[in-house]
Amino acid sequence: METAPPAVTTLNEGGASPFVLLCEHASNHIPEAYSGLGLPPRDLQRHIAWDIGATDLARGLSCRLDAPLFLSGYSRLLIDCNRPPGAPTSIPTRSEDTDIPGNRDLDAGERARREAAYFAPFHAAVARLLDRRAAERRRTVVVGVHSFTPIFLGVPRPWLAGVLYAGAAGFGRALVKRLAADLGADAVGDNEPYRIEPEEHDYTVPVHGDARGLDAALLEVRQDLIASAPDAEAWAARLAPVFADVASAPATRR
Ligand SMILES: [Zn+2]
Repeated sequence: METAPPAVTTLNEGGASPFVLLCEHASNHIPEAYSGLGLPPRDLQRHIAWDIGATDLARGLSCRLDAPLFLSGYSRLLIDCNRPPGAPTSIPTRSEDTDIPGNRDLDAGERARREAAYFAPFHAAVARLLDRRAAERRRTVVVGVHSFTPIFLGVPRPWLAGVLYAGAAGFGRALVKRLAADLGADAVGDNEPYRIEPEEHDYTVPVHGDARGLDAALLEVRQDLIASAPDAEAWAARLAPVFADVASAPATRR
């Protein structure tokens, strides 16, 4: 009998750090009843199903920064925890160059079921902690931890890492600058390899960060750099002091 993982796993909820970490694409789990959404097992190991290496990187950062961490429990192919529900990319019928047969022609009931089972509990847990920290007047910086594929639709990406931000431009730029000092200017994408798009492509930064007036960004690391647990741990060791430095600088947002 298959056991169902929780939609959200919360680690170190009482951590002392200003950072609150989210890993919205932590898992490639798809319940057996979905038959892999019609995809062969090898496709469910690719980045289209999850962010390779992101869980280990996020866990390493959580430990080193003493930061709370929320890990999603299900594949982004069921419903993406960093997309607004109802957006076309929330339950994708195509991801990169791969059609997702099990997402075609879904009725409203199935969409609502997936949102209730795999999306809502994750974000409710995050919102509860952010509410509590606001009531306690604690400084909070929201960071989503992600990985990106080195080649997308045949085009190589030049960066080792990227920082994506919208409202908290001062914080985002400070993080880019500090990362570039460590990794090299050309190695860090400034709002690359994506941009924050609240209407279609983003949820964490606009909802948990910008709407609350908190500093917020997504960290993106190239997946081949963190695909093994020791490599992810080495990157966590490298990146944790960068984050600690940026958080200790005076508030830069406004
Ligand atoms: Zn991601």
